[in-house]
Amino acid sequence: MGVRRSIITRALRYSISTAVIAAIVAVYFRWVHANEMTVALTFLMVILLVAANWGLRHAVYLSILSSAVLNFFFLPPIGAFTIGDSRNWVALFAFLLTGIVASQLAERARREAKMSRFRQLEAERLYEFSQQMLVTGNVIDLLNMLPQMIAATFNLAGAAVYLREKDRVYRSHPNYMDVTAAELRDTAFTRDHRVDDARGVTLAPILLGTQPIGSVGITGAGPSPQALDAVCGLAAIAIERAGAMETLTRVEASRESERLRNALLDAVAHELRTPLTSITAAITTLRSNALLDQEQRGEMMQVIEEEAERLNRLVGQAMEMAALDAHDIKLDMQMHSIREAVDLALQAIQPQLRTHAVDIRLPDSLPKVEMDLERIAKVIQHLLENAAKYSAEGSPIFISAEISKNQLMTSIADRGAGIDDFERMMVFDKFYRGQGQRYRVQGTGMGLAIAKAIVEAHGGSIEVTSQPSQGSVFSFYLPISVDDF
Ligand code: ATP
Ligand code: MG
Repeated sequence: MGVRRSIITRALRYSISTAVIAAIVAVYFRWVHANEMTVALTFLMVILLVAANWGLRHAVYLSILSSAVLNFFFLPPIGAFTIGDSRNWVALFAFLLTGIVASQLAERARREAKMSRFRQLEAERLYEFSQQMLVTGNVIDLLNMLPQMIAATFNLAGAAVYLREKDRVYRSHPNYMDVTAAELRDTAFTRDHRVDDARGVTLAPILLGTQPIGSVGITGAGPSPQALDAVCGLAAIAIERAGAMETLTRVEASRESERLRNALLDAVAHELRTPLTSITAAITTLRSNALLDQEQRGEMMQVIEEEAERLNRLVGQAMEMAALDAHDIKLDMQMHSIREAVDLALQAIQPQLRTHAVDIRLPDSLPKVEMDLERIAKVIQHLLENAAKYSAEGSPIFISAEISKNQLMTSIADRGAGIDDFERMMVFDKFYRGQGQRYRVQGTGMGLAIAKAIVEAHGGSIEVTSQPSQGSVFSFYLPISVDDF
């Protein structure tokens, strides 16, 4: 089909060239009567135009044809292929030579322009290809997409990629079977291209440095050998990079979970040991010392009760944190005012706040917001607990709420030691405990992490502003829906 069309095009071009020459002859011979020089230059112009657009073959044909025509119609004796004046022989020969040489030059320029257009297109495609490959960070995804990307980039009938490490062939579409797995495997142990013109198949190794790590097989006259090498080089780098990224992510994830596990174990072990030691000591005293009076016995019992309570709380917190982490909590969302949550929290930790003056500023105009009352009370409770724990006895604690940026902002402020910039980034992390407090005050480092998880489950956020030695302000935001007003 393609061959027939190109024969027709060629025949048509020869006919058009001949017709143009005939037209020029007609014009000059019959009507204009110009001298030989003008005619020759006109022919030369046509020859150059044809060479630039249609190639050398047509231009040479035209050069010969126009020399013959020039001789026959314009060089004396006119109407015969003989030439009277021997100088005209030289002129005619010079004309023919000029035509052919000029055609050759024009043809070369044409071919170079075509080549540079092709190169430019190929460079653009390679760039696009490299961009696409940088997007995927996972080796499996990359390998599944790679053949399709190669085929699409270079308009190929199909492409296949083989990777030695996985001993698998990836194909641009499942029924693309032009290259066999055996061929690809063989190529993956060489350093050269293999071209099978009969089948239109090219095979090339994927080299990482000088080491072949796989191969690519394509069908179609797409990329030049250099471009195919570039594709293979890019593929090698992308595969290597994706592999490295995967390993790194895996290592980081396991390191992080290892770190968390250690932190949890440390915190839990330490926290469990203290109450357990107290309980064991109290029980031992009760058992062995018959001389204790009623009051002392009561005190021991109280220690046991309090410490058991602490243990209970600790285990509860660890479990709540695990549930929040797994997004395993159901919120009981109802419309409540923030005052209700504050009251509930104050009730729960009354004893800890005894040594602080609590200043509450909650305007009546505040809208009710949708919240899980118990859990928001928990958040306030954690913040109040911290405020009491990390500020001096007798110093005030402020509870306030206001509307800010279409959200209800609730703040708990204290006049404690504050938190420095460095720690501010980490206090909401699980198990993180301040360097100053770690060994002084009891805690697990889970209070703020739990508070953050609860607030975020409500679609809100939590933040802290603090000036060292001036105190800290913890604020959390809850979204207000339009109909809450
Ligand atoms: P717990 O799990 O018992 O609450 P914790 O209080 O140590 O233990 P978080 O409530 O998560 O844990 O607080 C983390 C750290 O943040 C604390 O160890 C402390 O260093 C710092 N911090 C929290 N609140 C304040 C505050 N109001 N003032 C100063 N530092 C604070
Ligand atoms: Mg706390």
